Amino acid sequence: MSTGKIAIVGAGPSGCFLAQSLLKAAPELEVDLIDRLPVPYGLVRYGVAADHQGTKAVARQFARVFDRQGAEFHGNVTLGADVTLEALQGAYDAVVLAAGLSNDRPLDVPGAALPGVWGAGLITRALYDHPDAGTLPDLGPRPLIVGNGNVAIDLLRLLAKQPEELEGSDLGPVATDWLTQSGIEEITITGRSPAAQAKFDTVMIKELAKLSGVTIHVEGAGSSEDAAEAKKIEAVLALNGHATGPRRVTFRFGLAPLAVEGDDHVTGMRFKTDAGEETLPCTSVLTAIGFCADGQLPRDALLARAQDIEAGVLAPGLYATGWFRRGPRGTIPENRADAQALASRILADLTPDPAKPGRAVLADLDARVDYAGWTRIDAHETATAPEGRVRAKIARREEMLRRAREEES
Ligand SMILES: Cc1cc2nc3c(=O)[nH]c(=O)nc-3n(C[C@H](O)[C@H](O)[C@H](O)COP(=O)(O)OP(=O)(O)OC[C@H]3O[C@@H](n4cnc5c(N)ncnc54)[C@H](O)[C@@H]3O)c2cc1C
Repeated sequence: MSTGKIAIVGAGPSGCFLAQSLLKAAPELEVDLIDRLPVPYGLVRYGVAADHQGTKAVARQFARVFDRQGAEFHGNVTLGADVTLEALQGAYDAVVLAAGLSNDRPLDVPGAALPGVWGAGLITRALYDHPDAGTLPDLGPRPLIVGNGNVAIDLLRLLAKQPEELEGSDLGPVATDWLTQSGIEEITITGRSPAAQAKFDTVMIKELAKLSGVTIHVEGAGSSEDAAEAKKIEAVLALNGHATGPRRVTFRFGLAPLAVEGDDHVTGMRFKTDAGEETLPCTSVLTAIGFCADGQLPRDALLARAQDIEAGVLAPGLYATGWFRRGPRGTIPENRADAQALASRILADLTPDPAKPGRAVLADLDARVDYAGWTRIDAHETATAPEGRVRAKIARREEMLRRAREEES
């Protein structure tokens, strides 16, 4: 009897949860996780904040998918560049797109292209040593954050921290220097909606009360009769007046972006408010307003033609899950339910074709990194962690590839 062969593109949380569910239900399956990076776990490694190591610990659960459940990792393989979707569909009984959404959603207002406007994804990738990231920009003394989700709060917290508050993180030396020598005097964080409807989680707001070098000011938090909304407002208001140091943090709500101001660099941001318009001066604008596809895969076209998008079925034998399917919403655990439902659907649809070559289609890709290669990178990073850090991430792809191969022969 032929076992089914399944390729999952993207070894982030969605891909790992899916492999976990598939192999739990049908351990004989051949499940391959293909990722364009030489390292697995997607945003667990390159999005979740460096000072939230507890959240990153989910990677240990994902590791079991490879070292106990038998999934294979094929890193440093980009769908759309190293291998085509058609080739994967020809080789596997089922192909699943779990490629996430890696580009920052652009701010759609005049001036958004001015120097000094940066997306949160771009900044966090650079902070967390993503191999394709650029250098960290100069934000000037008064950055302004646009957005009120958890990613915006992550950015705010990191920008506001003192050097000793970064202990126990996996921030590298470049990012550490960038943060500690930023010269930031004031951070303004703005949300379009009132505080009652802000997207951040209350627990993220409460954590800000531990910051040791800031003075926090909350403006216009409003009120609500709704119990959940009132709790959110209460959490934000509890920060008002928190004064442990000179760096000022100001929360503003109900500000709809109208334009980024400036001639050849950002000087301010103009907003529509209940009372009319208001311009807040700033030296940079950091947008944390969601994510979109990077264009490597024809996501829009695939989703538009999808057979059953709610079930994750794009076409016979072709599926989508996680952020790639749902859009940039939901925490890591929220991808698990999605993956479990999709695993059942794939298993119900599966008709294994013994003639399909499966992972042999990847055999000619010499620069592929397997799971053993990743464990060598991982071991090196944890063994070389400097004092006060849990790992020393390798930032350059060539070095990752070299470490992955080190003991191979
Ligand atoms: C900055 C940030 C902070 C976050 N913090 C938290 C948090 O603290 N707690 C929490 O629960 N959630 C957090 N989230 C949300 C969480 O990261 C997502 O729910 C989750 O990562 C989505 O999983 P995914 O597998 O769909 O996508 P991803 O994690 O993005 O994984 C997609 C994978 O696909 C790969 N890929 C992309 N394109 C290709 C291609 N063409 N070929 C091959 N591989 C490809 C990528 O390299 C990546 O490894 C955060 C998100 C962001 C952006």
